[in-house]
Amino acid sequence: MAYQVTLIPGDGIGPEVSSSARRVLEATGVPFEWDIQEAGVTALEKHGDVLPDSVIASIQRNGIALKGPLTTPVGGGFRSVNVALRHTLDLYANLRPARTYKGVQSPYDDVDLVVVRENMEDLYAGVEFDAGTPAAAEVIAEINKRSAKKVSESAAVSIKAITPENSRRIVRFAFDYAVKNGRRLVTAVHKANIMKFTDGLFLKVAQEVAQDYPSIEFNDRIVDNMCMQLVQKPELYDILVMPNLYGDILSDLTAGMIGGLGVAPSANIGDRAAVFEAIHGSAPAYAGQNVANPTAMILSGAMLLRHIGEMAAAEAVERAVAAVIAAGEKVTYDLRPDRDRTKAASTTEMTDAIIAELGR
Ligand code: NAD
Repeated sequence: MAYQVTLIPGDGIGPEVSSSARRVLEATGVPFEWDIQEAGVTALEKHGDVLPDSVIASIQRNGIALKGPLTTPVGGGFRSVNVALRHTLDLYANLRPARTYKGVQSPYDDVDLVVVRENMEDLYAGVEFDAGTPAAAEVIAEINKRSAKKVSESAAVSIKAITPENSRRIVRFAFDYAVKNGRRLVTAVHKANIMKFTDGLFLKVAQEVAQDYPSIEFNDRIVDNMCMQLVQKPELYDILVMPNLYGDILSDLTAGMIGGLGVAPSANIGDRAAVFEAIHGSAPAYAGQNVANPTAMILSGAMLLRHIGEMAAAEAVERAVAAVIAAGEKVTYDLRPDRDRTKAASTTEMTDAIIAELGR
């Protein structure tokens, strides 16, 4: 039976790169039925909403979505589609693998890391009080009544809340991913030496969860030290699990280590739904020109295959992508050392080359 998948083509270069991913997924022989849904500015123009309820309903029904990048309309009260999707569907795990592909310009040649970022809480949740407002004054007065450390009355305040429930499920997710994908080590990243209660709680929960997975090694690193170690000796690490804000920053660091936006896939995963997408945006300047690099979107498709248990197909896609990039001929301009557009392959030519490689 075919897998039912919601396909959101997206805005800008979205339709081109998601069409590439769809073609590559279909070429693996795994059967798919696509439920095509519009979101972003395309949906805004047609339905007056960047995220029509029908899109959420489709993902809830199918449990899996492949999503092209969406343009965030500038100005005026639009809800962020990504945040809305994440919260409505409880997509609590953001998964960002970072692996070097031979042929992509990068200072590193052997990175193979996976960042698992908690998606729902932490400072990133946006519980904030603007400086000088009555609400901030009340919050600060309450803090100063209860805490030995005082907050200045002129301060803006952001709240960092970490729960044992969310910490447990994200760390469990990281270990389950390790087991399912044959990985060896999970590292919890935190600042528990300073934030003893919030990050301390995250670390304590991580240590407890680790006991349930004796076949996977576990250690922890303080986030600043982690950044230095990643730059100096990334080969020591494997899966990194962390609260939301550290994950936001470290996953861009690891994407930079492997050569950036064109090749970096991601997924937002919950217990009932999962959304797979490139980390890059809709690059409006390149829309409709058939020049965008489809790799990140295709690799997001490989993550989708892995998620539904089609491991052989996922590996075949990753191998085909790696072979085409390593050969260096049928690659888009951004993967060429000279960035010469006249010699570069188009989006469709690179996709065709990947599909041809799949057949070898
Ligand atoms: P962007 O990722 O769209 O583009 C930044 C630059 O990266 C581009 O100018 C281009 O040079 C390059 N680039 C990105 N993807 C590429 C590809 N596949 N192939 C070749 N080059 C590529 O980031 P931005 O310009 O900050 O954002 C543009 C729009 O995308 C905004 O509306 C933003 O809100 C949105 N956005 C959406 C998502 C998402 O839907 N997940 C993520 C990021 C940004």
